[in-house]
Amino acid sequence: MGFLKKLFGGGAPKKYVDTQGVYFYVECANCGARVRVRADKQHDLQNSEDGGYEWHKTIVDSRCFRRIQTVVQLDAAYQMTSHEISGGRFLSEDEYLAAEAAAAKAKAEAAEAGAAE
Ligand SMILES: [Zn+2]
Repeated sequence: MGFLKKLFGGGAPKKYVDTQGVYFYVECANCGARVRVRADKQHDLQNSEDGGYEWHKTIVDSRCFRRIQTVVQLDAAYQMTSHEISGGRFLSEDEYLAAEAAAAKAKAEAAEAGAAE
């Protein structure tokens, strides 16, 4: 029984809660790279007239370096209410995590296949 415990030992890493950041997940329309972008509530968001916030950002992914321009409207609870984006599209956190997990799995399988040869 100690085996599984050893394998996954150490417990889950402590979760760091970032109360100052709002995270957005964007996929580049050109190369498909996924980018996680953090907006700082205090420094990056502007107050909008309706009591919410607005976020203007030019995102550059790390693969093709094309600029993705976005303007996001947030409500007072920092939830995205609407957005404009050119050069990419928004992903939900779940979509982003699922896509990253799938990519990591494909990479691991490719490495395994390579090692078996
Ligand atoms: Zn790209």
